[in-house]
Amino acid sequence: MYVYSYFIDGLLIDTGHSNARKMILSHLTKLPVEQLFITHHHEDHNGNLKALQNHFKVPAYAYTKCANIMKNPPKISFSQWLTWGKTDANQNIIPLDKEISTNKYTFQLIPIPGHARDMVALFEPNEGWLFSADLYIYDYIKFCLRAESIAQQISSLKTALALDFEVLFCSHNPKIKNGKVHLQRKLDFLENFYQTVVDWHHQGYSPKQIRDKMNLPKQYWMRFISGGALSSLNMVKSVIRDEAMIKT
Ligand SMILES: [Zn+2]
Repeated sequence: MYVYSYFIDGLLIDTGHSNARKMILSHLTKLPVEQLFITHHHEDHNGNLKALQNHFKVPAYAYTKCANIMKNPPKISFSQWLTWGKTDANQNIIPLDKEISTNKYTFQLIPIPGHARDMVALFEPNEGWLFSADLYIYDYIKFCLRAESIAQQISSLKTALALDFEVLFCSHNPKIKNGKVHLQRKLDFLENFYQTVVDWHHQGYSPKQIRDKMNLPKQYWMRFISGGALSSLNMVKSVIRDEAMIKT
């Protein structure tokens, strides 16, 4: 599974996962890195942060929420550990809330919670670049983590679509052209998904019945190996949870 780290004008955005440390470090340590930035606390984004801090001896930054979570990161599932490797607790991340600058560029930090509560995008308005972390990934998704919020993802997609950008530097699936078209497709998919789940829910169907009615994949192997951390059922449950929160 691929995850991208981006290097621009001395700034390294995200550090890849620790299971690929040898390969990642063999490339990244050749770069003139002056500062590090982590988009959110997931293990495929910060897995080599400590190793890179030790190597470069440069400051590491993150959005304040992320820096706080990284002091004592939540436990990850067996499947995440197997795929990516672990997240190390890290007390040496400098919190930022507004922006991060390099010699040539200034990136606004845009909170885009939903996939992770601490996730931010980096927006360079003069260049039309959006480093969107895991906001996009693909035009649709078939499963998600237990803690994800579909309603927040919808809201974050709308926030991102209101920005003036062309290039979508997604952490898993960059789109050099038509970044907005792809992000809009993801929004359309999630809005449709959300409304369908709400409709079935109001008719009294259980989350599992809704999953089956919507023909969502059951992914027994993934649910089993992840202990339920990753599943399509999580997407259904997230909508029902979000809807109850919105109503109260
Ligand atoms: Zn993530």
